Amino acid sequence: MDLDEESTNLATREYSTALPITVDERYNLIVCKECRIGLPSDWVVAHLKEHHGVRTIIKEVLTLLGVGDYAMTLAEAENWIQNM
Ligand SMILES: [Zn+2]
Repeated sequence: MDLDEESTNLATREYSTALPITVDERYNLIVCKECRIGLPSDWVVAHLKEHHGVRTIIKEVLTLLGVGDYAMTLAEAENWIQNM
């Protein structure tokens, strides 16, 4: 179907262009700009896929955000939230 093909193309085009994420530099925490929630680095890829239909890999996310190979992981985020 034409419509299916159209949406597939759209999804492909979104890949690796603008991911709806940013990083809170103070906490080195990745934040989803659309959902406005903090995402531990080990959740980002699954979150983008499940909630926004965007396929990416963690390396691309980290490169895009310029955080190198460090961003807050789930365990660190839980720690951080508990200490707030
Ligand atoms: Zn989101």
